[in-house]
Amino acid sequence: MSVLVDKFGRKVEYLRLSVTDRCDFRCVYCMSENPCFLTHEQVLSLEELALIGQAFTELGVSKIRLTGGEPLIRPNIDFLVNQLGQLPGLKELSMTTNGSRLTKLADSMYQSGLSRLNISLDTLNHERFSALTRNGNLERVIAGIDAAKAAGFNRIKINAVILKGKNDDEIIDLVNFCRDRELDISFIEEMPLGVIDERKRQRHCSSDEVKQIINDVYPLTVSDKRTGGPSKYFTMADSAIHIGFISPHSHNFCHECNRVRVTVEGRLLLCLGNEHSVDLKAVLREYPNDLARLKQTIIDAMELKPKEHHFSTDGDVQILRFMNATGG
Ligand code: SAM
Ligand code: SF4
Repeated sequence: MSVLVDKFGRKVEYLRLSVTDRCDFRCVYCMSENPCFLTHEQVLSLEELALIGQAFTELGVSKIRLTGGEPLIRPNIDFLVNQLGQLPGLKELSMTTNGSRLTKLADSMYQSGLSRLNISLDTLNHERFSALTRNGNLERVIAGIDAAKAAGFNRIKINAVILKGKNDDEIIDLVNFCRDRELDISFIEEMPLGVIDERKRQRHCSSDEVKQIINDVYPLTVSDKRTGGPSKYFTMADSAIHIGFISPHSHNFCHECNRVRVTVEGRLLLCLGNEHSVDLKAVLREYPNDLARLKQTIIDAMELKPKEHHFSTDGDVQILRFMNATGG
């Protein structure tokens, strides 16, 4: 049972832990073409990240998702997965990845104790994929998805950000790709994090529009599947997969928010869409291994969790952090 309760009575049971701000891709909605990355000293060590995981699980957090940046480019990430995987009280250890390194690392991630994978894939068109990611290789990602299945991961979920005029004509292709491979899929509305030129040229594509397009081909039924996250899930009559919609703009889910994020700089972010944060790195570096002090800092931080975010749909950026620095 979580002892982390904010002043609106919401229990925090889910931590998104960013392990790097770096990435081998440069997705147009996530970061600028020439991002400025953190230095080695600014970044938490794997031991510090493991201690943060321990503190949160001792406070009742039962799910941790590793993210970034691209978590699989963090050297020795299997050490951290192994440490976190052994924490009593942790029911689920998952990762969000762009899939580019899964052909090499899927087996060792599975063996180290990672239980679930979300893999990002916005398009099945080679040219578009390299344009959207600025340098990614679609074949490698698809091979990575297949390698993850072969390694033993089940309930893999694809994340797709749909942008009008860029990939909104591929919604059914993406659903078919997931039906064929028995993967769940969540469609995500783009969020205005960080100042990016492309963002101004893109038009918002709402979850309702995406859902309508799918429903015309595959009638959707509301599913009772709940993951404690913001996705609302649907099923189709002739497939076992779930289709989720993450709609920060059109369907605000703040009232049921059960999560916080820790950036790789050790900033505890109480909300994706607000700047409220607490510096856990300062505590870790001034009082190394003082787990009690770290836990008390986290408990006190719950007071700062804001009621809701205020994203607008006009592309205006209210948050200056980029997604890769936030831990998506
Ligand atoms: N590199 C990994 C990946 O791409 O899966 C993990 C980190 S990435 C920041 C996590 C998720 O955030 C990805 O699914 C990505 O598509 C999504 N994302 C990034 N920037 C976004 C934005 N501005 N709005 C909505 N989703 C975004
Ligand atoms: Fe990298 Fe993921 Fe951001 Fe794309 S969305 S640039 S893969 S961190």
